[in-house]
Amino acid sequence: MQRLEAIKIVVVGAGTVGATYCYTLMQTGLANEIVLIDVDTKRLEGEVMDLSHGLPFVRPVIVRGGDYSDCSDASLIVLTAGAKQKRGQSRLELVRENTEIVSSICDRIGDCAEAAVLVVVTNPVDVLTYVAIKRLGWPRGRVMGSGTVLDSSRFRYLLSRHCGIDARNIHAYILGEHGDSEIAAWSMSHIAGLTIDEYCKTCRQCDYVEEHKRIEQQVRDSAYHVIDYKGATYYAIGLSLMRISEAILRNENSVLTVSTLLEGEYGIGDICLGIPCIIGRKGVNSIIQARLSEDEHIALKASAETLQESLTEIHVAGVGHWPHSQPQRT
Ligand code: NAD
Repeated sequence: MQRLEAIKIVVVGAGTVGATYCYTLMQTGLANEIVLIDVDTKRLEGEVMDLSHGLPFVRPVIVRGGDYSDCSDASLIVLTAGAKQKRGQSRLELVRENTEIVSSICDRIGDCAEAAVLVVVTNPVDVLTYVAIKRLGWPRGRVMGSGTVLDSSRFRYLLSRHCGIDARNIHAYILGEHGDSEIAAWSMSHIAGLTIDEYCKTCRQCDYVEEHKRIEQQVRDSAYHVIDYKGATYYAIGLSLMRISEAILRNENSVLTVSTLLEGEYGIGDICLGIPCIIGRKGVNSIIQARLSEDEHIALKASAETLQESLTEIHVAGVGHWPHSQPQRT
């Protein structure tokens, strides 16, 4: 009989995002064991109890609190620990505080983890994915950020609602920073093989040039609205993380816009950005170099520059130290 591999997932940060991801994950049957780690031991215990009370209704899975030694035989580590945006605050404004938190967690993970892939979620996610790659010195494909997977999902949902088409039949991508400088890649977004522009020209139900601008801005502002209304975003990111986890653990070779370290792709280097990547068991297997329009390419480069400024800021502030300055290539 074939022996099934036990899948253990470690989630660092049992806050609203970490706990919602665990709740989503529990219902997929993807993991045999889910281990939560948090400095707030009471919150950790409460989340583990609440999640565990639902176990009779899902496929068998162990949910428990743990520590960094649990990373040794984990297949996947998801990092959601750190401060979150307050009302009106941009993701980049969290950078100093969360660089320190993520750096210290990476040191603990690096001491134990043997084969796990790391997914960074803490904001600003692109900057902190870069910090994690440099801090750990792992092959670049083994560390990714959740990138613009959530933003691309918001984009698909808004296009779906506007066009009256099932969101699963809309292939549309947001690229660049998970934040204010992100871009809608209209040229690589499709409905049934037609670019969105081609589709809009045949549909002719709206002033599509204006609608495109409105939808793109709505995607960018989504998190601000949700945070303003209810204090935090967590359901859609929980589902986005579930999708990334599936792609990794089932070795799906799925295309997802995770944040990955660019080394010359798109003419951009030494920065992490949300770009279409092929995701499988080892993490990012490869980066797809999509054909962008000239305007989109310029906007992507501008997004990279915004993130570069943020990295320079943490260097100047003395909070970013890279013991492994040259990450290995995948
Ligand atoms: P939260 O405040 O509810 O939870 C954060 C948790 O991290 C807390 O339980 C806290 O105790 C824990 N923590 C802090 N320092 C720690 C450390 N050193 N070790 C272990 N645990 C530690 O916040 P949240 O709503 O869960 O958000 C978490 C992060 O995810 C934020 O940075 C937020 O901006 C980010 N986020 C990212 C996305 C995305 O698309 N990438 C989406 C939503 C939220």
